[in-house]
Amino acid sequence: MPKEFQFQVSPQVAASEDLLAQQVAKFCKITPEEILKVVVLKRSFDARQKAVKVNVKGIVYLIGEDYIPAKIELPDYPNVANRQEVIVVGAGPAGLFAALQLIELGLKPIVLERGKEVRGRRRDLKAINVDGIVNEDSNYCFGEGGAGTYSDGKLYTRSKKRGDIDRILELFVGFGATPDIMVDAHPHIGTNKLPKIIQDIREQIIACGGEVLFETRVTDFVVKNSEMQGVVLQNGNIISANKVILATGHSARDIFELLHKKNIYIEAKPFALGVRAEHPQELIDRIQYSCDYRGEFLPPAPYSVVKQVNGRGMYSFCMCPGGVIAPCATSPGEVVTNGWSPSKRDQPTANSGIVVELKLEDFKPYQKFGPLAGMEFQKAIEQKAWHLAGETQKVPAQRMVDFTQNKISQNIPKTSYVPGTTSIEMGEVFPGFLSQIMRQGFVEFGKSMKGYMTNEAILHAPESRTSSPVRIPRDSFSLEHLQIKGLYPCGEGAGYAGGIISAAIDGEKCALKVAESLNLK
Ligand code: FAD
Repeated sequence: MPKEFQFQVSPQVAASEDLLAQQVAKFCKITPEEILKVVVLKRSFDARQKAVKVNVKGIVYLIGEDYIPAKIELPDYPNVANRQEVIVVGAGPAGLFAALQLIELGLKPIVLERGKEVRGRRRDLKAINVDGIVNEDSNYCFGEGGAGTYSDGKLYTRSKKRGDIDRILELFVGFGATPDIMVDAHPHIGTNKLPKIIQDIREQIIACGGEVLFETRVTDFVVKNSEMQGVVLQNGNIISANKVILATGHSARDIFELLHKKNIYIEAKPFALGVRAEHPQELIDRIQYSCDYRGEFLPPAPYSVVKQVNGRGMYSFCMCPGGVIAPCATSPGEVVTNGWSPSKRDQPTANSGIVVELKLEDFKPYQKFGPLAGMEFQKAIEQKAWHLAGETQKVPAQRMVDFTQNKISQNIPKTSYVPGTTSIEMGEVFPGFLSQIMRQGFVEFGKSMKGYMTNEAILHAPESRTSSPVRIPRDSFSLEHLQIKGLYPCGEGAGYAGGIISAAIDGEKCALKVAESLNLK
């Protein structure tokens, strides 16, 4: 019988098959020579002790036992070229995983994406980084794979449904991600590997008879008697279908405006907003690993901070070890930050959003915009930051200690944010209550994470696209919009997901409900 094991080892042992096998032998009271195969099922780092340890859980097979390597295979996708068509608006994780699920269920997805395919998108990312030119359809948020393509590719979520998460991870592996993502407690893919995976997903959809149309922006919906009939494209063409999965992400402001204009019910939703902080990675390693030098067996350290300040949560968001801060504006005249990292996380800097939870009452100055009040609050901060930093893609920046002391920084060193920074007193960018919470919060973080509060840390503003400022309400059973039959608000933009995995899970859920409504499930 294969034996199970679970223990803590040093990072060096965890990184070596031979050393790990010796440890397994000792634990299971066998000799290394008796081992046929050690299979690691779960792996996580434990940095709470002075010397970092790795928790390892797995199974050992002995010589003579039946060991069949687990093989992750893609589902047997049928050809759906002649099946009923379902429109999917948006090719982010929600839209793409909805399309795959529709195919599995025997329906033909027509995916409409305003941005370009992954390769064409690269040129527009260069233009925003180097020339400060924002293409409204092709940027870090819009284009094939959505906001997740050029990201850190962190694949963890607060969702508790392990089965749903494993299914998405298995699909990622099936499309080319390393099987390690099934094992690591905090898996990530990296910006260099995600585009190929996304491209393979698209090719699968097309090979099965589905359609994926790029540079195809949806500008209107065709609705009759409160039932979805199709969508109107920017070029005036209409694509008809009475099932539309709307997965346009949290930055599709024109879609929120369109829904509001058409009196299709939407509501303001609280979100979080703040700055993106960048530290030298070595400094974060020293703090998190309690060591002078990380060494070759430990990954660049992540961190997570959270405090209650004046009754509000202030916390780290989308932390990227060994990463880079990216210009994530989706329209000219605004600046937005977010972070990405390559699969090896080998950049010398660590960045993280540090954000404060907002409440609906914060949007009061914008109440004339009704359900778009939060979106207008967000937009106003992004536009103000753009203006203050010089009306390019440079962002306002300040050293962390200077910010807490209301002191403009005399100089800002070069950071990973390619378009550059302008030294600004951050208090000018944010409403007073937010600056006050952030100042206090950073002092608190410095107390619980010694060394975190330092002038080596540079704050970039704003981190404003943490989640959708709008919810598109849907029936909790059918997942259809409360008023419009056949419209399935989906993913992060509709307010039902936050991050790659949960968006993908929601995409699958909506596809299942579409099939159910057609008695296909
Ligand atoms: P999106 O990914 O936003 O996709 C929506 C798509 O709809 C876009 O491609 C857009 O072009 C398209 N669209 C919009 N309007 C229209 C229209 N009118 N017509 C046609 N198409 C339209 N999450 C993680 O879990 N881990 C991370 O490490 C991580 N890092 C990130 C780093 C960056 C730089 C960014 C920007 C985001 C990151 N995120 C990360 C967040 C994650 O990418 C999103 O949560 C996720 O992509 C949401 O998926 P979605 O499909 O709901 O929406």
